[in-house]
Amino acid sequence: MQILTTKSELRSALSGPAQTGLVPTMGFLHEGHMSLFRQARAENERVVATVFVNPTQFGPTEDLDRYPRDPDGDAAKCAESGVDILWMPPRDEVYGPRHATTVTVAGLTDGLCGRSRPTHFAGVATIVTKLFALVRPERAYFGEKDYQQLAVIRQMAADLDLGVDVIGMPIVREADGLAMSSRNKYLSAEDRAAALALSRALRAAAEAFDAGSRDADTLVAGLTAELHAAPGVALEYAEIVDAETLAPATGTLAGPARALVAARVGQTRLIDNIAIG
Ligand code: AMP
Repeated sequence: MQILTTKSELRSALSGPAQTGLVPTMGFLHEGHMSLFRQARAENERVVATVFVNPTQFGPTEDLDRYPRDPDGDAAKCAESGVDILWMPPRDEVYGPRHATTVTVAGLTDGLCGRSRPTHFAGVATIVTKLFALVRPERAYFGEKDYQQLAVIRQMAADLDLGVDVIGMPIVREADGLAMSSRNKYLSAEDRAAALALSRALRAAAEAFDAGSRDADTLVAGLTAELHAAPGVALEYAEIVDAETLAPATGTLAGPARALVAARVGQTRLIDNIAIG
């Protein structure tokens, strides 16, 4: 595996023709990321992973400066998962001093996490566009863990004819249900126990649907009540939306839907989601 840091090294490493799968990450890698690397390995001749804590997707009061980092551990996990090229650029390599371009996706970014993180998805769309332009992959792999992000990137790739097949991968969870996340490192033992309420409440909503409960408002009310009652959990939102358009579901659920939640547990903001139906 090659570990590269500059754009020019990356360009020369990619010069030969090979079908390429790209997996963008912010590092502090875990099994969720590794599932993406392995899928990319299975479907492409060449696998490129990137580790870059992208400053433009963090708000001014968010955790950019304390975001967990482990470059050596990340390199080992990439090598173990079949990555060919790991690009870990320093911040200045990615954004020039006069960088002035932002990619925004309208509509999909208004609700859910976009409400409390109004600049987040523009930061994500911009860095992913840059990575697509640098690597020119045939396929790019993203986790359903960040469900709204996946929808935004799919929309952007289609709207801008980027020619990249955007592939969504299932959420990898700890044995007790907690969705794996680099930010779980912030959780104290007490927070960690409290955080289980998110996956538990989502599972309960999916099970209620499976048992015949079809009214979106009733399901959302149940989800909200369970999370409001959970000790140590400050709920930001609990919603059920159309799985594709992310439009809030109302009345009787017809097509595929997704339940999504965001909550603060201690100082840590966590998100999770589940398919409904
Ligand atoms: P991050 O490093 O948090 O920006 O995540 C990089 C990629 O890994 C994104 O596409 C995430 O959706 C994905 N990812 C993060 N956690 C998980 C997980 N638990 N299961 C599946 N994919 C994940």
